[in-house]
Amino acid sequence: MARATQITMCSFCGKSKAEVKRLIAGPGVYICDACVGVCSGVLEKESRSENDKPSAPTLRIPKPSEIKRQLDQHVIGQDRAKRTLSVAVYNHYKRVLASNRSAPGGETLPTTIDDADSVEIEKSNILLLGPTGCGKTLLAKTLAKVLDVPFAIADATVITEAGYVGEDVENIILRLLQAAEFDVRRAQMGIVYIDEIDKIARKTENVSITRDVSGEGVQQGLLKILEGTVCNVPPQGGRKHPQQEYIRIDTTQILFICGGAFVGMDRVIERRLGRRSIGFGTEPRESAASLPAEQVQAQRPLLHRVEPEDLMSFGFIPEFIGRLPVVTALDELTEAQMTEVLTRPRNALTRQFAKLLLLDGVELSFTDDAIAELASMASRKKTGARALRALTEELFQDLMFELPDSDDVVSVQINRAVVRRETPPLVQRREQRQAA
Ligand code: ADP
Repeated sequence: MARATQITMCSFCGKSKAEVKRLIAGPGVYICDACVGVCSGVLEKESRSENDKPSAPTLRIPKPSEIKRQLDQHVIGQDRAKRTLSVAVYNHYKRVLASNRSAPGGETLPTTIDDADSVEIEKSNILLLGPTGCGKTLLAKTLAKVLDVPFAIADATVITEAGYVGEDVENIILRLLQAAEFDVRRAQMGIVYIDEIDKIARKTENVSITRDVSGEGVQQGLLKILEGTVCNVPPQGGRKHPQQEYIRIDTTQILFICGGAFVGMDRVIERRLGRRSIGFGTEPRESAASLPAEQVQAQRPLLHRVEPEDLMSFGFIPEFIGRLPVVTALDELTEAQMTEVLTRPRNALTRQFAKLLLLDGVELSFTDDAIAELASMASRKKTGARALRALTEELFQDLMFELPDSDDVVSVQINRAVVRRETPPLVQRREQRQAA
């Protein structure tokens, strides 16, 4: 009997069966409930610290076609840019996962990645060229949404070289960290959109010396974060202060998308091509299918034919251009596309206003000619789809002021005359509807 008691004790802590709640038997060994708890704690801790590694993103990478399909739901036109972006973003996040060697909850990596260990996939930040209000910011923002990664917007014109009045490049990363709710791991795989990048081009003619230096200095300042560096981000933002505690963020896996209108770039490209301009946003004159490849190329809007040397002529230093290997152009929106912007995207302006009014129990409708008129008015303003919001806001201003006071309104219709301000919105009241 005495022998049997000796055997039935925990092989880990040595406690006897009588001292523990449960004793689990294995082949020739025993473990008590308390030791099971300890072991499980150890394993949990290990797996937690695995997940805490800065390189363990939970990321599902949609295929390029899927990314493009999702972009189509929010962004009108810009087909070529969408395709380029879908591929670039897909490759970027594949690269992120490849360097992390794991893809929890996402695409599993082909085993050949391990075989090709010596191959380093370089980061592909993106440069978007296109007129104002054509969807550059919207594309970047939508990409972040599709990938479910944090997103931040920065303005290149307020970034300065350290020591000048303005913002340090670290503040851009701080904004991303804020968007990631201070989750460093998530911030490190986010997307940053840097707007007005064309404004930091070095100007060689007709611009003051100070501006020259600053443009190039800002490009120099951005080089490191674009390529990948560990940034010391002051959590409160603002200027760096020696006593401040920094949060360290590695920008290696952050995707930077830079955008700008690049006014005058068409002339630079034209000069290189040595021929007369076919215009900014000009549509091909013939169907592409009927033309040889070089002619199709020749008929594309000039901005689509931008080459690194054009960016250099525009005032970018070669190192900066090298950090933005994916370059794509967007087109000015046509009037027809403006009508689509108003009605088609999930978040289209007309839908937003309809929802707002519906919250007051009022149905809103637009006639087709009202939409066409809004698009035409916006087109004339030359600020792209930006003008649509301003025009629509203006149109609804009085109505939004008055509607909450009149609880018998059941519907409002906007037609062309209303858009032209020839008549007020057509309002139907409850008794009118009942009578009808
Ligand atoms: P930019 O090209 O100047 O960055 P934005 O992307 O900020 O322009 O666009 C300004 C506004 O116009 C956005 O809020 C968006 O709703 C609308 N917009 C611009 N282009 C498009 C587009 N191609 N499709 C849908 N909406 C667009």
